[in-house]
Amino acid sequence: MKLNILGCYGPISCSDGPTSSYLMEVNDKKILMDMGAGSLINLQKICKMEDIDMVILSHLHADHINDLFILRYYLKLIDKKIPLYAPNSPISEFDRFKDEECFDVKVLEDNMEVKLDDIKISFLSAEHPVSAFMTKIEYNNKTFVYSGDSIVNNNLKTFIKGVDFALLDGAFLSSQKLNRNTHMSSYEAAKTAVDMNVKKLMITHLAPFIDRKEYLFDAKKGSDEEILLAVPMLKVKI
Ligand SMILES: [Zn+2]
Repeated sequence: MKLNILGCYGPISCSDGPTSSYLMEVNDKKILMDMGAGSLINLQKICKMEDIDMVILSHLHADHINDLFILRYYLKLIDKKIPLYAPNSPISEFDRFKDEECFDVKVLEDNMEVKLDDIKISFLSAEHPVSAFMTKIEYNNKTFVYSGDSIVNNNLKTFIKGVDFALLDGAFLSSQKLNRNTHMSSYEAAKTAVDMNVKKLMITHLAPFIDRKEYLFDAKKGSDEEILLAVPMLKVKI
């Protein structure tokens, strides 16, 4: 499996890159997880838009779905339909794409499993102010989890337990006095990953106005392991 970071910022894109978007390549299959603002620019540096086999939206906040509505224009132009997995709420956001001809929309549910050739993809709900799901991809005895946006809870712990690679929301610094029911701090992401025996952790959903060194410093308080921070166009083999 090869993970490509297309965008890692949140909730605001910046001159360094898009908001959340990640392309997983497995053999000749391409799974696109979230489509933040600007993500199609970086996607097209790697492949053609029509090469995407599946789009997964972890939740329907703008910094995770913005470019879906740009992809829609292109798919209509070339008359192509692709599978799209997404939560069905908030309904006002879901209504914006649910009847589009270019998307074969499947509503995400807890413990849902999908097969794409020999690739197993499963979902479990996260904890965020709107309906949100984590994604697990398993192939050839390797396991990967993307948390989407979530705080620490039992579902997250269960889902990441023992995985080879976890890409976790660590948007906050533990020193910030922010709304604590939206995102983990980098410290919480790192501590939870260690507690759950995750083999390799990458932290994402980084605020462009926070120095990356501060994120790493916060994460290091929770873990002695090497921790990666997401960077646009970074590629990681899993
Ligand atoms: Zn969100």
